[in-house]
Amino acid sequence: MISEQSGPGPDGIIGQIGREILQRERFILTSHARPDGDSIGSQLAMAFALDALGKQVRIVNADPAPEHYQDFPGMERIEIASRVTARPDETVIVMECSDLARTGVEGLESQFIINIDHHAGNRLYGALNWYDESAAACAEMVFDLIRTMGVPLDLEIGTHIYLGILTDTGSFHHSNITPRTFDICRQAVEAGVNPATMARRVFDSNSFGKLKLIGALLDSMELVDEGRLAVLYMDDQMLAACGCTPNDTEGLINLPLTAREIQAVVFFKVSSDDLLRVSMRSKYDVDVRKVANQFGGGGHKNAAGFTVEGRLANVRASIIERLIGAIAEGLQTRPTA
Ligand code: 5GP
Ligand code: MN
Repeated sequence: MISEQSGPGPDGIIGQIGREILQRERFILTSHARPDGDSIGSQLAMAFALDALGKQVRIVNADPAPEHYQDFPGMERIEIASRVTARPDETVIVMECSDLARTGVEGLESQFIINIDHHAGNRLYGALNWYDESAAACAEMVFDLIRTMGVPLDLEIGTHIYLGILTDTGSFHHSNITPRTFDICRQAVEAGVNPATMARRVFDSNSFGKLKLIGALLDSMELVDEGRLAVLYMDDQMLAACGCTPNDTEGLINLPLTAREIQAVVFFKVSSDDLLRVSMRSKYDVDVRKVANQFGGGGHKNAAGFTVEGRLANVRASIIERLIGAIAEGLQTRPTA
């Protein structure tokens, strides 16, 4: 097993992955269940790059992407399946997954796996592992790899790289943005990507039902910790009343953060099968990943999540208590510039 946390120079892990890909012919691309913009963008940018190299590519995801991603180039190529039967010569490239189970796809275990990820705590489950916590999006890493393999950035690849960065930075709000982020975006724009169109397609493509859901969510929002923490609740009845599906909820968690006082948001999604999905977002140095880790989940400092079995009433208080602790800690180092 070859692994490297960072330092992706040409002789390092990125060069090795590039050489390995160039030598191989058939690929299965995958990413995490309930895909987001970075998982879609990373996979499709990689797929178009592999096409350019004349490789055979299929993309398998456990769940369909939210509706507003459906008309991005190549989306029709994504097969939805919870199990694959892979040929022995198919190389699997897993992007955006800290462990293989995050894919929600079975049947990959015995393949040659290339693991490319930016989540802290990656389990190094591949034959080749490249994870870089400093990347603002997995798409930044995919960009580097594509360039290392000598594939030019065309409009389709640029679109997906930009999509991954735009969404994983919370539309340039999160604290993991570096000069590199903008350098990659600049190159994507030079390849023809229109930032205004991208922002409209991703953030201003709500259905009327989703607007109604925003109203219902904010109406039932609770404020705790003197207004520093917002708590959102959603269940199947609320979704049905607005004519929405769980896929319509992407991005809604960010709404409370638009209030100046609110430092963190927790979004409880209750489903009928007694599984509680918990999503969290925060500003600046408030570290919600630490809270997610305490409940078996993960993510990033400003965006993290986990799933717990059991009833909301049993876990709500302890999650909120930990978040209040994270806010207190984070506020000590708040940047002024
Ligand atoms: P979201 O709240 O949008 O579902 O997830 C926010 C971030 O946390 C994403 O980067 C996602 O990959 C990560 N995340 C969400 N749920 C889990 C989980 O159950 N386990 C891990 N390891 N990461 C998660
Ligand atoms: Mn990501």
